[in-house]
Amino acid sequence: MATRWETPASIWLEDESSGRFELSATEGLGRVDGQAQARARLPDVAALLGASLPLACRCSPIYPEGFAYCPQCGQALDKLAGRVKSQPDWWGPAADQFLPRHVPHGLPVTSLALGDSLEERPAAPAPGRADCAMPVPPNAQCVFAAAGFGFPVQRLLALAHTRNVLQYWDPAAQLWHVMAAEDHAGALDFTAGAYGWLPPLNPRRGEVALVPTSAGLRRLWINPVTETYRTEAVFDAALASAPGAVRRHVACLFNSAAGTRLWTAHSDGSNVALLDCAAPAGRWSRPIAYDGALLWLQPLGQLVWQPGQAARWIAWPRGWSPRLDFGGPTQSRDGRLWHIGHDGQAYSFLELGVDGAEQQPISGARLGFANLLFRRGHAVVNEPWESEHVEDQREDDSLVLPLLRSFNNNRSQPSGLVLRLHNYTGRAEEALGERVIGRTTVEWIGKRNVVLDEVVRLARPLECVPFVYDNCLWLHHPDWNQIRGWRLEEMA
Ligand SMILES: [Zn+2]
Repeated sequence: MATRWETPASIWLEDESSGRFELSATEGLGRVDGQAQARARLPDVAALLGASLPLACRCSPIYPEGFAYCPQCGQALDKLAGRVKSQPDWWGPAADQFLPRHVPHGLPVTSLALGDSLEERPAAPAPGRADCAMPVPPNAQCVFAAAGFGFPVQRLLALAHTRNVLQYWDPAAQLWHVMAAEDHAGALDFTAGAYGWLPPLNPRRGEVALVPTSAGLRRLWINPVTETYRTEAVFDAALASAPGAVRRHVACLFNSAAGTRLWTAHSDGSNVALLDCAAPAGRWSRPIAYDGALLWLQPLGQLVWQPGQAARWIAWPRGWSPRLDFGGPTQSRDGRLWHIGHDGQAYSFLELGVDGAEQQPISGARLGFANLLFRRGHAVVNEPWESEHVEDQREDDSLVLPLLRSFNNNRSQPSGLVLRLHNYTGRAEEALGERVIGRTTVEWIGKRNVVLDEVVRLARPLECVPFVYDNCLWLHHPDWNQIRGWRLEEMA
């Protein structure tokens, strides 16, 4: 026989003979199979639900939310209810929702004040090392999201979207778990374009995000207690791009028999419209939201859409091809967006979003985005096409690849996370591919530059993924055995 206990969010069963508690159902996650509650998972489950854990006795491995004392023996319990630890969400380097309006959204720019902590470290050239490490998820080619997902504590997900595998980090057990698909859950694979997900503003318990999949747009839900996920269909189509949001609208490109089309809706899912694009098929970038419009780039041109208007396809000028791997759009002082490319003779910056765009010639490759821009080892601090700022001539022999810009309003002092590829004087295009670079340093650029770590033999540097979770800045590369981490001050 079991006694039924009801808390505001859950139903628990207490076994009358053993006195042990078992979760039976909980809000948003439905019925919970007792088998699912492996003992090793209970500390994590207790933190997620705000349940209680034994401290001194062994009467039950877990107790309902709010229990302060063991009902069997009266010993005090570790009551986790109400212990909300607010930490900033992370949805990928290009998905910061708290940037000011005048900054393009969708580029790897963060509003988190990472520099406040990182710049406390010894200045370059003092060598640095990572402070902590985390195992690489079993499917290492992945994107990360750290958020509450409607729970009182933050959790970390790693989605291997090329392989349809969702992975969950159990911080108490220090283990990655592969989440199983619940019945009728759709596949999460998406390889048609650059990946990006749209988080909800006020997630319900278990709600993750609006995610692109090969079969359409889905709302993803997780159940960390049973280690499963489910999906809800939002729009069925062969998606061609990640979704973007602008002015309370969401939009996404998809392929149809009639060519590339645009699906749009209000943020609440109402007022769906399907628009023709007259755009050729191609591998689309993540959308960039700027100046009230969404912008997708691909090797043949750009698509611009403003709510209430038709979608505009703008092909690149004849002979000019963008270097999308170099980073992304960068802003000139007057606020216009530009992208680097090559016309067969030389590199140049092309104005984005307008027909008959202006071009600005430049003498060589520049890597970066959003005013975190480098010509070889030197920062470009004024207009994107102006000469680089040479502080140290020796940096001619290195190549800096920006990974994440830290937002500040001071354009003469760009700040962010970069890789410095040492003793490399070859073409930028080759450094970004399979070529193995002997020595690379991970650096923080800011009021003072700091060497965070050194990497021996790095290939495919664009696969480096930075993320912020549990008061650490982490850097992951699918080839590494461990994710490297650097501690940050509390960032609530
Ligand atoms: Zn007890």
